[in-house]
Formats: sequence, structure tokens, C-alpha cells
Amino acid sequence: MVHDGLYFWNTLTRQKQKFHPIDADKVRLYVCGPTVYNDPHIGNWRTFLFGDLLRRWLEYRGYTVFHVMNITDIDDKTIRDSGKEGVPLKVLTDRYTQSFFRGLKMLRIFPATVYPRATDYVPEMIQFIQILLQKGIAYETRDGVYFDIDAFPHYGQLSHIALNNVKTTTRMTADEYDKDTAQDFALWKHSTPDELQREIYFDSPWGKGRPGWHIECSVMTNTLLGETLDIHVGGEDLVFPHHENEIAQSESLTGQPFVHYWLHVRHLMINGRKMSKSLGNYVLFDEVLAQYGTDTLRYFFLSVHYRRPINFTHATMKIAQNSMMRLRTTLDLIEDVLQSNDEELGVPAEAFAFLDSIHQHRQTFEHSMDDDLDTHSALDALHAVSKTINEYCAVKPNTAALMTARRVYLQLLDAVGLYSIDEQSSPAEFQDHSQAFITLLLSLRDLMRAEKNYKVSDLIRDKLAQLGVVLTDTTNGTSWKLKASD
Ligand code: AMP
Ligand code: ZN
Repeated sequence: MVHDGLYFWNTLTRQKQKFHPIDADKVRLYVCGPTVYNDPHIGNWRTFLFGDLLRRWLEYRGYTVFHVMNITDIDDKTIRDSGKEGVPLKVLTDRYTQSFFRGLKMLRIFPATVYPRATDYVPEMIQFIQILLQKGIAYETRDGVYFDIDAFPHYGQLSHIALNNVKTTTRMTADEYDKDTAQDFALWKHSTPDELQREIYFDSPWGKGRPGWHIECSVMTNTLLGETLDIHVGGEDLVFPHHENEIAQSESLTGQPFVHYWLHVRHLMINGRKMSKSLGNYVLFDEVLAQYGTDTLRYFFLSVHYRRPINFTHATMKIAQNSMMRLRTTLDLIEDVLQSNDEELGVPAEAFAFLDSIHQHRQTFEHSMDDDLDTHSALDALHAVSKTINEYCAVKPNTAALMTARRVYLQLLDAVGLYSIDEQSSPAEFQDHSQAFITLLLSLRDLMRAEKNYKVSDLIRDKLAQLGVVLTDTTNGTSWKLKASD
């Protein structure tokens, strides 16, 4: 059952809107991926981690997510930098694609359903451009094929640019440009002599050439997710021209709305400026992970809502590190208490009050996340869960209640990527499993004893003792203890 109460701020409508996917329980999600011309910096990772957070939350709420993230392995920058380095384009892009995948793993980002590479979709791009030409929305020039922005009446709807102020008669050949130079943009670029000599080209009805950047996403979304997507994500710098151009191309082709919800992540800043490759003021995630670890980096991003800029400083990273440590300490405390807790009779009233309070914090957490992924408030709720557990551990806690609280706590941590239930065999999860196994062996031993098969029942006792599990037979049955906790 999906939860019907998610709200997202939509860049397209400039409003917070209730989320209605096209299919009741499925979400078509596209996140603009990396341009693989060098290692992503932690600003890029802010956006990619947001994609992961959104995916996790949609899944937490019961949706099945088809998540596509493209790899831009041909564009102005990849061609420029492979040329500078004197290596074939593919050598450069393969190197940084690998580095991107390594980052995904290190940051425990859920793998997308598909990671299409732009160069694998060139025939589809050519076909797409041909239809735009047939419809009279694109035209051919001496240097390529261009999209006529005057032929698409809604051009500017996402970025809210006033077209008549900006459109000039010249055309834009570069992939990236600013709002105040809005012009017809390249769908297909004829090869330059340098590209021909380096054999960076594809054959097309317009001669040897290569696609422009924007057409890549329109084609990969169309091929893999269909005409209309539920959610499209990217950093704020992509609103114009990239996403504006994606809409123009896709809607001109299909006549259907391209995307229902546009979510844009504000920039990671450093010393008051956008962290960017071109400004050279970037920090790579290897450095940050070596110093702080994945959870701290994730915590740092979660501490500020994704629609607010966030400033990278070591002081704030240290604050994130301490806060993360407080959340982790609660997990350790639970383990210690569960190891040493004695069996008890009856259900103490405090256990109900305790679980009630955990439940309320969970609801606050969920409401915060439903409200346009308000992670700042969700973290407050997580700390409230942690504090409640810490306080409960200080009195005489009930084992079952504490285990329930631990399960909720782990689920919430996992929902925002601060802890991975699936991928990490944590002491907590491990202990759950071992307890279940020990209980199973005890039942088997009881059965053997009832059948007077003392050979097997003693074997079970001895083998468990070798593993540090000591059994005590009483008139009420058999209890067990770990040797270490004696
Ligand atoms: P690129 O590899 O340059 O195409 O960028 C990949 C993604 O990172 C895009 O969605 C960009 O909008 C995003 N991005 C780039 N710089 C930053 C930054 N400083 N903070 C957050 N996101 C960024
Ligand atoms: Zn894109």
C-alpha cells in the first residue's frame, strides 16, 4: 500500500504540490547524472545524494521506483579534456565513469535501475531530431541542426525567462550558456576538423557529427521511461538552459507533458561561491570521506533542506560528525543493554509509554519527510528517538520494547541513508539472527531430551558452550547467557 500524502515543491509551478504519480504505485524518476570529464566533487554528490534520498523515501512510502540516471559521455567538456590530455574520448570517459560508480558504492547510494550512456543512444537521437525537422521545429545550418525556440510556444515555462528580451538572431553552439543569451540551440553538431581527426563522430543524415548535450536526456528519458516522467531531478544550475531545452525538445516531439514534478537542488557553496569544477574551488569526496566518513557527509547534507544553499566548512562538518556520533552511540547503548538485560516477568507500564513516545517521534519524522523532504526537521525527530531510547536505557528497560524501538530507529536511519539495514551486517542485526538460532537450537535440544536422546541434546549444549553460550536448565525450562556477559 502506498502512502498518499507526499508533497513536493515543483519548480515548474513554483508551488508545493501533492504528489500524484501517473501509475498509482509506480514512479518514473530521472536524475541528470554526471558529465564524466573528471571526478565529481561533493557539490555534484549533494545532488546525486538527494536523488538517492528521494528514491529511499518513495520506497519507504510503498512506491516502486524506476530510477534512471544518465552518464554524459560525449559533450563539449569531455571532448575538450580528452583532447588536452591526448587520450581517446572513451579512455577519459571510462575512467571517470568508473570513478563515479566507485563513489556511488562508497556513499551507499542505491543503484539506479539503469545508467544509460549517451553514446549508446545516438541512433535514437538521430531519429528524434529527424522528427523535429519534419515537424518544422528544427532546422539545418552549415554547422549542425538547431532547435527553433520560437516554434515552441511554451519555451521559458520552467525558468520563467521573458523571451522577447533575450532571443537574438545568432545561434548557440555551446552546450552551456546563461539565461541572458537564450537562443536557438544545437541538437546536432557537425564534426570539427579536430573531432574528425580524433575520430569522434557518428554518421548521420546530416554528415559526420555528434549530438548536443540537451538532446541526450530527452532521448534517454523517452526511450527508457516513456513520454511523461513523474519526477525529474537536477541541480539548480540545470534549470536553464538544460531542463528548459529538454522540455522544448520532448514536448515538441510527443505533444505530451514531459515531466509532472521538477525538483531542483540548491548548490553546495564554499566560501560563499558555488562549488564548481570550472571555478576550481571544489573538494573531492575521497578527501572528505577519508576525514569524516560517509555517514557524516550524508548527515551534513541532510542537516539543511535541499532547497537551501549549504556552505561547506570544516567547522560544520565537525558539528555533523558529533551529531552523527550521538545517533550511533544510541545503537551501541542498545546493544550493551540487550546483552546484559535479565529476563523479566510481566509488561511494565513504562514500556508502553516509551513505545508511545517512539511512535510519536516516528510520525513527526514521517510528516517532515512527506513535506517536501524536510530532512532538517526529520533529523530533529531522529534525535528525539535517540534521546528517548537513551533515557529509557537508563531505567530498567524491557527487552522486547527496546528491541521494537531499535527496529524503528534503524528503519528511520536507513530511510535517510544514515545506516544501511541491507548492506551492513551490524552487531544489532547479527544479534537478532543469533538469538533466533539459539532459540531454535534450544527447542531442538528440548525435543531430544523429551525423546531421551541425550547424546544429541548434550552435543547441542557442548557445541553452544564452545561458542560462548551457556545453558542453565531449571524447572521452568532452559535459559541461556553469553559467557562474555557473566
Ligand atoms: P555535471 O557533472 O557538471 O553535469 O553535474 C552533475 C550534477 O551536479 C548536476 O545535476 C548539477 O546541477 C549538480 N551540481 C553541480 N555543481 C553543484 C553544486 N555546487 N551543488 C549542488 N549540485 C551541483
Ligand atoms: Zn540531463
